[in-house]
Amino acid sequence: MLSDFDEKRRQLLTGSVGIATSLYATYGMAATEAGSATAVDEGEVAGGTVSFPAIDAPTELPGNSPPNPDVPGQRVGFAVVGLGRLALQNILPAFGQCKHARLTGLVSGDSEKMRVIASQYGIPREACYSYKEMARLRNNAAVQVVYVVLPNALHRDAVVQAAQAGKHVLCEKPMAVNVDEAREMIDACRVADRKLMIAYRCQYEVNNQELAKRARSGELGDIQLIDAINTQNQGDPTQWRQIKKLAGGGSLPDVGLYCLNTTRALLGEEPIEVIARIQSPEHDPRFKEVEATVSFVLRFPSGVLANCASSYSLHEKRNFRVLGSKASAEIANAFGYEGQKLYLSRRDGESEARIELNLGVKNQFSLEMDHMALCVRNNVEPRTPGEEGLQDQMLMAAIYQSAETGKPVSLPVVTRRDAFRGPPPDDGPVGGG
Ligand code: NAD
Repeated sequence: MLSDFDEKRRQLLTGSVGIATSLYATYGMAATEAGSATAVDEGEVAGGTVSFPAIDAPTELPGNSPPNPDVPGQRVGFAVVGLGRLALQNILPAFGQCKHARLTGLVSGDSEKMRVIASQYGIPREACYSYKEMARLRNNAAVQVVYVVLPNALHRDAVVQAAQAGKHVLCEKPMAVNVDEAREMIDACRVADRKLMIAYRCQYEVNNQELAKRARSGELGDIQLIDAINTQNQGDPTQWRQIKKLAGGGSLPDVGLYCLNTTRALLGEEPIEVIARIQSPEHDPRFKEVEATVSFVLRFPSGVLANCASSYSLHEKRNFRVLGSKASAEIANAFGYEGQKLYLSRRDGESEARIELNLGVKNQFSLEMDHMALCVRNNVEPRTPGEEGLQDQMLMAAIYQSAETGKPVSLPVVTRRDAFRGPPPDDGPVGGG
């Protein structure tokens, strides 16, 4: 039986009572904490959410509201498949900042590691599965979405199994190791009537979204050139990323994909031609099977040229620049997990102005998972569905073909804007238009 104190606390947490009748008011805590001051709660409660009145002058940025997350029982449950670096370092912690998604299951080949992680995140033993047991997910109603975070060559089977178990699927990028697998994944989800989203986190990251919105609004003038670079320097030559069968390729599908996808997402157009070159350091054991550096130029119907480069043998650099006739913009660390900085350069009277936009810090993994959660709850197509991943697989195949033949490769003309995307997230500023 709940004590009066616990009952008040429960009501507060479930939002069934406003802060004005909070513990402070009820139990007189404010009087203790604030001496003789009268307790006045400044929060306002409307429609189950809490907000605060402005604290600063109108010349200042408005402060953030509390996040107002859904109560845990109403959030969409996710099971994460594969407990490697990305899952443990980024994805599982990001559930802590989600408003609509929550972690309800784990799938791993390492039962001991899974036991430890399950205890850290409060996942019951019966919601932990080995890869072979994925069909049993069907019986777990607390799991609505399966998030596949395995090496690239294992995405296809895991996505198909998850869909066959009746679950919606969020799948890490690159979607697959070739076009045929990507098609199979889309088909499996269609047959099972489940949603498939590819985890293109940059399309949910606020600086990338803001730049897309401004570029599409015409603020930069006529965009003619894009410059996208994503490089890193790989270590251990035996890791799966250096093995073609598991990775599908080298720097291109892993990090070059960000240059490709972010450029397409910003413009909303599809390239009509690509020309590419590949270069790898000779006798380097890391590049026996996969490429180090890929440089490719995409030509778009509007005339935009996108200069893209990725590498597995260069010091880390992750920049994205958009050059227009009136202004240019740049996101430093555009493709990183955090630390993006968005700059705009344009004339300001008799000077050149370079301003840094401060959009605050938001966890892009949380935003991405919340988007999937809302798509499931509201039955909406994800912004980055399987078709978006398939298009990238086709373009990467063309990039490899061009590098191999030394000739440009023409691509099918796609006239519809955002042809492979679902609607932009409701709560994000992804450029429409
Ligand atoms: P990782 O090597 O750290 O983890 C892979 C996990 O898969 C490990 O737990 C490993 O035990 C398991 N696994 C199962 N079968 C395996 C096999 N046959 N060989 C190797 N490992 C096997 O990799 P990661 O960095 O977590 O990457 C996982 C996926 O996430 C990849 O598709 C990668 O492209 C993607 N990724 C995306 C981002 C992003 O920013 N969105 C960042 C990193 C990785």
